[in-house]
Amino acid sequence: MSLADQLGRPLRSLRISVTDRCNLRCQYCMPEEQYIWLRRDQLLRFEEIQLLAGIFADLGVEKVRLTGGEPLLRRDLPVLIRMLAENPKIKDLALTTNGVLLTEFAQTLRSAGLHRVTVSLDTLRPDRFRALSRRDSLGAVLEGIQTAGAAGFDALKLDSVIVRGLNDDELSDLIDYGKQVNAEVRFIEYMDVGGATHWSREKVFPRAEMLERLASHFGPIEPLREASSAPAERFRLPDGTTFGVIASTTAPFCRSCDRSRLTADGMWYLCLYATSGTDLRAALRSGAGQDELRALISGAWRQRTDRGAEERLGIANRGPLLSSRLLRQDPHLEMHTRGG
Ligand code: SAM
Repeated sequence: MSLADQLGRPLRSLRISVTDRCNLRCQYCMPEEQYIWLRRDQLLRFEEIQLLAGIFADLGVEKVRLTGGEPLLRRDLPVLIRMLAENPKIKDLALTTNGVLLTEFAQTLRSAGLHRVTVSLDTLRPDRFRALSRRDSLGAVLEGIQTAGAAGFDALKLDSVIVRGLNDDELSDLIDYGKQVNAEVRFIEYMDVGGATHWSREKVFPRAEMLERLASHFGPIEPLREASSAPAERFRLPDGTTFGVIASTTAPFCRSCDRSRLTADGMWYLCLYATSGTDLRAALRSGAGQDELRALISGAWRQRTDRGAEERLGIANRGPLLSSRLLRQDPHLEMHTRGG
């Protein structure tokens, strides 16, 4: 029996944040000087993550993506990958990383059973990278991408958040770089998620403009017709190169969203924009058995009505979702805690 929410959406994909810590400070995600971090003793242990992931898989989840914060900062991550890879119901096991530590970890992650890697890369210019992320790590990221390319993953993707006036002039350079390293590039619209306290509508560089700019550089772009719940729409350039656009801000895809998110300390959120979630760690640590946890998760999913990004679309004077004051009161509202 498959589990569906109030809009008929299945529970199919789970993002697990393994840490809220990050080694970059990207302007669109972590622009503040100081953050309130999750308490270490409250982080889920690997056995707890494995158990919860197993319950989710029993309820229909086939795709698991590890994220953060920066997931490679979580100690012994390959051990967790190996534990999750043992579950045959998890058909797709992926990781989203900023790539800074990928050179060190790529081969171990692959050997542990990780299927796919997505690296976030917003610019190819060292000075811009430094200004955007407040760290001087572009060299390490590019080396990490090369190493991942050689490690034999099923697929390597590059995700670029495009912010008007910041990196919208690099679309074609990023595509060319993707070709060089045999990775598909996906352009993401700047989203007003928790943490994006400097967001404004003017800084969004919409899908329509991305396509226009790419077409004027590469020639006619052909949309690929695909039946998929993946957030990216895919396109093909005249030379056959494919790329994706994730238009979460101007053309949200809530109606097909089968994703939910588990934070490193076990809060489970049904939407990137949700302000409340279910405390699965509390349930686990107060002795709930598998049947109880299964009932808790399936009950919450059946009630799900979330359409966060679509609702944001209807807001007239749209500004940042949350103030930094509110984010400090509840760090679970931060993108880097929730798991991008
Ligand atoms: N540290 C890892 C990384 O950089 O890929 C994983 C976590 S990060 C929060 C996941 C993704 O969220 C990254 O691709 C990042 O660019 C994206 N992201 C963060 N803030 C965003 C925003 N305001 N709009 C769009 N994407 C955002």
